[in-house]
Amino acid sequence: MINQSLKNLSQLLASKAVSSVEMTQTFLDRIRQYNPDINAYITVDEEKSLAQAKAADANIAAGTATTLTGIPFAQKDIFCAKDWKTTCGSKMLENFIAPYDAHVITQFNNVGAVNLGKTNMDEFAMGSSNETSYFGGVKNPWDLTRVPGGSSGGSAAAVAARLCAAATGTDTGGSIRQPASLCGFTGLKPTYGLVSRYGMIAFASSLDQAGPMAKSAEDCALMMNVMAGFDARDSTSLNHLKEDYTAQLNQPLAGLKVGLPKEYFADGLDGDVAKVIETAIAEYKKLGAEFVDISLPNASLSIPVYYVLAPAEASSNLSRYDGVRYGHRAEEYDDLMEMYMKSRAEGFGEEVKRRILIGTYVLSAGYYDAYYLKAQKIRHLIAEDFKAAFKQCDIIMGPTVPSTAFKTGEKTGDPIAMYLQDIYTIATNLAGLPGMSVPAGFSHDLPVGLQIIGNYFDEARMLNVAHAYQQVTDWHTAMPKGIA
Ligand code: GLN
Repeated sequence: MINQSLKNLSQLLASKAVSSVEMTQTFLDRIRQYNPDINAYITVDEEKSLAQAKAADANIAAGTATTLTGIPFAQKDIFCAKDWKTTCGSKMLENFIAPYDAHVITQFNNVGAVNLGKTNMDEFAMGSSNETSYFGGVKNPWDLTRVPGGSSGGSAAAVAARLCAAATGTDTGGSIRQPASLCGFTGLKPTYGLVSRYGMIAFASSLDQAGPMAKSAEDCALMMNVMAGFDARDSTSLNHLKEDYTAQLNQPLAGLKVGLPKEYFADGLDGDVAKVIETAIAEYKKLGAEFVDISLPNASLSIPVYYVLAPAEASSNLSRYDGVRYGHRAEEYDDLMEMYMKSRAEGFGEEVKRRILIGTYVLSAGYYDAYYLKAQKIRHLIAEDFKAAFKQCDIIMGPTVPSTAFKTGEKTGDPIAMYLQDIYTIATNLAGLPGMSVPAGFSHDLPVGLQIIGNYFDEARMLNVAHAYQQVTDWHTAMPKGIA
């Protein structure tokens, strides 16, 4: 059961071969067995999950079920879920019980899906290895001495180790796609504004976007049908016509024009990863896709631009954690100022503090023009590069990450090396474009992801491109050794 697609799980439930309570219990048992080693979940609440499963079974019996009714999903601990502890991976929110549901949680609840628990993540989604989590690092199920990627590392490990049917994540600079590449599954960051950010704890609001993390493109499509849609409570939610993301899955790829950005195959790309991507390209040629060379001349600036803009937005977003209204409050202080300072000094980890300092600096009156304003201008140029590229092609392909999963601790002392994990993913966030990562093979027994970037709102086509590949390859069905 644990290896089944969402469609098959749905059929098992509809035919009453398995109940949602049984299915949920199967995953809860696996979490009990594997989570002590992997640390994918921060919070599990068997009673709550089983109550939802029971309600789903009643729905199924009454004939009111839809495709995802009764299927157990893991939710990244960045989404507020009513009456669930919602920590965002931080000591600051260690004891925070959300009083309301994020839009994404509401959407899953509305179709009667089961919440299996809240997954581990880098603190406030800042990181590429899940090592900044206050609740400890997450192990990569493919090799427990390595990181799963981040910031959605808990969801990633949960999908890879089959500790859920599928999971949600968020991607500000690569946090769905990079872990998808490092853990060998399919992840999609949608067009900015397609999935509401309401109730999703803010990191960098102009970049944050929620998306599905699942075994296959088809599973991602089914989840997108639930997650996407206009929500007036998020002022950046786009009123895009509701789509069925499964509708185009089986379109032939003949004539598809794929652009290969030369900047994504330059120095810094691991040779083995490059070979995997070349093999995937050959497979796509057999499927009828045509390849053209393109250039994204400003792509190399995406990391410096991101590390001005994202910290700037984070410094503003995180100013709300002052110990007054909610979150951690220092126990001893003499006056209000000291209470603020101590609460924040105790509640935030090192990486979060680093970002707040950078963000405050680049927004300060003396440096605003030199850093923040300049970064905004280059952000525009990066978006223009993509606009020009999409005149030459329908889809862009390349590696998701320059290398495979690295060892725990390997990059913690070198923030710049850590930031470079997202060198191929960040530009799409800056441009607001959708991107996904699809398992494309292995290097030394570690998964490698192929990145697929589409034009605005072209998710259905991207899913089609990924699905066609998954019909002729089986990388996406591979499971880590030692996980049964
Ligand atoms: N790794 C990037 C960072 O640390 C992106 C994180 C994300 O997408 N949430 O900011």
